[in-house]
Amino acid sequence: MQKKVVIIGGGLGGMSAAIRLAADNYVVTIIEKGDRLGGKINTKKGKGFIFDTGPSILTMPWILEQLFQNANRNLSDYISIKRIEPQLKTFFADGSTIQLTGNLPDLIRNLEAVSKEDASELFHYLHYCSKMYEYSSKSIYKKGITSIQDLRSMLSVKEMLSMDLLRTMNQGTKKFFKHKKIQQLFNYYSMFTGSSPYHAPAYLSQLPYVQLCLSIYYVEGGMYKLVEAMSNLLHEQQVNIQLNTEVKQIVRDGHRAIGVKLENGQVFEADIVISNLAPTPAYNKFIDDSTLTSQVNKELEKYPATVSGLILLLGVNKSFANLAHHNLFFSDSPEKEFQQIFHDGVPADDPTIYVGISAKSDSSQAPKGKENLFVLTHVPPLKKGESWIDKKNDYRKIILSKLERMGLDQLIEQIEYEHIITPNDIQWQYGANSGSIYGVVSDRKKNGGYKIPSKSTILQNLYFVGSSTHPGSGIPLVTLSGQITANLILEEDLKQNKGVV
Ligand SMILES: Cc1cc2nc3c(=O)[nH]c(=O)nc-3n(C[C@H](O)[C@H](O)[C@H](O)COP(=O)(O)OP(=O)(O)OC[C@H]3O[C@@H](n4cnc5c(N)ncnc54)[C@H](O)[C@@H]3O)c2cc1C
Repeated sequence: MQKKVVIIGGGLGGMSAAIRLAADNYVVTIIEKGDRLGGKINTKKGKGFIFDTGPSILTMPWILEQLFQNANRNLSDYISIKRIEPQLKTFFADGSTIQLTGNLPDLIRNLEAVSKEDASELFHYLHYCSKMYEYSSKSIYKKGITSIQDLRSMLSVKEMLSMDLLRTMNQGTKKFFKHKKIQQLFNYYSMFTGSSPYHAPAYLSQLPYVQLCLSIYYVEGGMYKLVEAMSNLLHEQQVNIQLNTEVKQIVRDGHRAIGVKLENGQVFEADIVISNLAPTPAYNKFIDDSTLTSQVNKELEKYPATVSGLILLLGVNKSFANLAHHNLFFSDSPEKEFQQIFHDGVPADDPTIYVGISAKSDSSQAPKGKENLFVLTHVPPLKKGESWIDKKNDYRKIILSKLERMGLDQLIEQIEYEHIITPNDIQWQYGANSGSIYGVVSDRKKNGGYKIPSKSTILQNLYFVGSSTHPGSGIPLVTLSGQITANLILEEDLKQNKGVV
C-alpha cells in the first residue's frame, strides 16, 4: 500500500523531499502557510523592478539536475541557468577593490596587486579547499552525519586530516595568507552560511573553492524561476499542494506522529510527517507535551540560530558602472564586526554590505537605464521580543551612507522604489527561528559544524528537512537535505518491509 507523507512547509527542502518521495510512489501532500511555494526563495515586484528577496547566488547546480533526474526530468527543460563572471567585486575601507573571477590567471593578477607573496599561495590554498569539498562530497553530502565518529566511518584517517577538523576557518586562511585584506576576503565566505570565520570549522573553506573553481550561476528571469520549475514538476507528479494553510499541531499516538492538525481544526492523516519548519520552532509549536519539548530543547541548545539580515530592495534611476552583479563592501575591522554581531549580539557599527544587481546580467529585472539593488546587511538573530520597527530607519541610514561613501554616488537621491525587509519579517513570513537567514550556525566548539539530524529523536516517524538540518543551508545543501531525508525514509521502509526492524 502506498504510504502517505505530509510535509509541513513548501520551502526548498520540503519541495526537494516531495519530488523525490513522489517519484518513489509515496502519496505526498505539502501544506504551506504562505500563498506560494519557495519559502525564502521569494520575489517582489514594484515600479517595473523585479527583486529576488532571498538567494542571489546559485552554486553546484548539478545537485538540482540530479533531483530532476530522479524524477525522470531534465532541469534544462524547465529553467536556463548561466554562469556569472566576474564573480564578485569587493570594496575595502581604504578605497581599494579586488575583483574575484573564476579565471585563475586573472585572479592571481588581481591578488598580486595587493600582495605578491599571498598571490603565490593561491593554488596551495585552493588545493587545500578542494580536498575539503572532495571529502564532503564523499561523506557529509551523501548521508546523515552528526558526529566525528560518523565521519570516521566514511573517510580514511588521511582524508579526515585533510578536512583540518581542529582549526577554525580563520586559522585555516591564515596558514596561507598574511595580508589582512586577503584574509578578510577569504574568511568572509563563511558568511554565505551565516557563520563567523572565527568560530566555524576550517572545512567551510571549501566555499571559496566551490565558487571560484566550480563557478557561480544565475537562473534566467530571476531565482524564483527555480521555484516555479519545482512547482511545475510537483504538479506533474500530482503532489497535493495546500497553500494558505497553516499547520498548528502534530497529532501523536504516543511516540508516533499520525498526522497534522490545521489552524481550522482539520486533520490530515499521515504515515510519515516531515517538517520543513526548523526543528527548534517546530517542536515548540507543534508538540503539545512539555516533557518531550524540554528534553529536545536541551539537545538543540548546541545549535544556535545564524545571523538574520536587514534587506533593502532599491529600484534606482541610474546604472552604477563601477559595480558588478555581486558586490561586497567590507568593514574596516572584521574582528570588531564579528565581535559585535556574534559576541555582543548587536548590529555592527561598520557592517559588511552585500549588493546584488541581477539587472547587470538580466535586463528583464529593471527598466532600461535603471537598476535593482538587493542590499543585504547581516545582523544578529532576534532576541526574544526584539523588534526592528523603531531601529530599521537608523540602520538603513548607516547602510546607505556607507554605500555612498564607498562609491555609489547619488544613491539616496536616485531611489525610485524601496522596500525594507526586517529580521521580524523573515521570522514572521517563513517561521525562521529568530529570523535566521541560514538556519543554524557552524561552530567548531558548539556543534563541530554538524547540523541538526534529519530524524526526530522523540517521534519515530517525524523527519526534518531544510537549512537547519543536515547538511546545511543554501540552495544546493538544502536540496540535498530533502534528498538525504527521503533516502533515509526509503531505507527504513525497505528494512521494515523485509521485516528487519
Ligand atoms: C536574504 C537571503 C539571502 C540568501 N542568499 C543565498 C544565496 O545567495 N545562495 C544560496 O544558495 N542560499 C541563500 N540563502 C539561503 C537559502 O535561501 C535557504 O537556505 C533556503 O531557501 C532555505 O530553505 P528551507 O528548506 O530551509 O525552507 P524555508 O525557506 O525556511 O521555508 C520553510 C517553509 O515552511 C513554511 N512554514 C513554516 N511554518 C509553517 C506552518 N506552521 N505550516 C505550514 N507551513 C509553514 C514557510 O512558510 C516556508 O515556506 C539566502 C536566504 C536569504 C533569506
